[in-house]
Amino acid sequence: MLKLKLHWQILIALVIAVIYGLFLTDYVSYVSWMGDLFLRALRMIIVPLILTSIISGVANIGDAHNLGRLGLKTFAYYITTSFFAIITGLVLVNIIQPGIGADLGLKSEVPELAATSGDLGDIIMRMVPTNIFDALASADMLAIIFFSILIGYFITRVNEKHKIMFTDFFNGGFEVMMKLTHFIIKFTPLGIIGLVAGVVAEQADNLTNLIGSLGLYMAAVLLGLIIHAFITLPLIIRFVAKVNPRLHARAMSVPLLTAFSTSSSSATLPLTLDAVENNSGVSNKVTSFVLPLGATVNMDGTALYECVAAMFIAQAYGIELSFLLQMVVVMTALLASIGAAGIPMAGLVMITVILSAVGLPLEGIGLILAVDRILDMCRTTVNVWSDSCGAVTIAKSEGETLKV
Ligand code: ASP
Repeated sequence: MLKLKLHWQILIALVIAVIYGLFLTDYVSYVSWMGDLFLRALRMIIVPLILTSIISGVANIGDAHNLGRLGLKTFAYYITTSFFAIITGLVLVNIIQPGIGADLGLKSEVPELAATSGDLGDIIMRMVPTNIFDALASADMLAIIFFSILIGYFITRVNEKHKIMFTDFFNGGFEVMMKLTHFIIKFTPLGIIGLVAGVVAEQADNLTNLIGSLGLYMAAVLLGLIIHAFITLPLIIRFVAKVNPRLHARAMSVPLLTAFSTSSSSATLPLTLDAVENNSGVSNKVTSFVLPLGATVNMDGTALYECVAAMFIAQAYGIELSFLLQMVVVMTALLASIGAAGIPMAGLVMITVILSAVGLPLEGIGLILAVDRILDMCRTTVNVWSDSCGAVTIAKSEGETLKV
């Protein structure tokens, strides 16, 4: 009952935010601070939440065999769904062909471009931190996840007395973090008013871009995201996990709306963990493993978007990509989505990985910049939805009984 209420509160907040952003554009700073404060509160709890959640989850899984099995299933799910998403995008962009005849004059500079590393070997290397305190301080997710899995595992390897002490400590820590999360969740509607009013005000005079080829490009991405979120993923959880997609979607309403409003899977993670555990009924053993990793690695929406965007840029420059090169786009889109951080606009910058792999001009990113914010909101929602579907699928395969 309480959850349903919050869900309605958020929807009302979204409507207020859109009206505010459209009609009180000059007064957005009066509400945008609420969004900033909400985001800061979410970011504040991410590191301790991931740390305690993964350590307690892995320590409770216990032996290496179970952990390995869970890891394998998780990665199989991530790769399969991302691949489905990319193929959906590829088919649509080839049918709709939004880039043919696109106006290259729209091109604008992309300041973030200089900051890209785009080197995936480097990302794997960075999973092993040289200094865990540095990694914690800079919220380096993959490094923190890797370290937490190791600590959780080795807690089960020490003598009984210490094992119990550490397990209790991290279980307790996790409970405290979840209580804090509940507290912050209460402010979601206010945070969303602040965040969305800001975006609407910013984008209000961008509407002309929606006419013409950018509109078609957006339509291709959005249609792909809709197919993936409303058909592919529900079919997977319906037939593989035997979970009711509608009930699960309802259980996930708060994190999904938050993902949409914040454009960040990582910032949404505390709410995702809460909803998947408390509303869908997945155990902490599974969520603590699947969700933090998913928020960083599993991005179906981003993968689909990467593929459509790269193909759009190729079409706009009049470069015909052969079947082989399109397969390179598919593979690099997968890698780019894995490498993208769960923060706003991370996916946009990662397109450079694909563009350089198939020899397209990096400046092409400037073509799609204008509409990126809206697409970011939508792809982030699909990213979080896929993570949550992964959690229920894996929980079911582990024999858990769920509430959905
Ligand atoms: N904003 C997305 C996320 O956090 C990443 C992206 O830019 O595609 O999931």
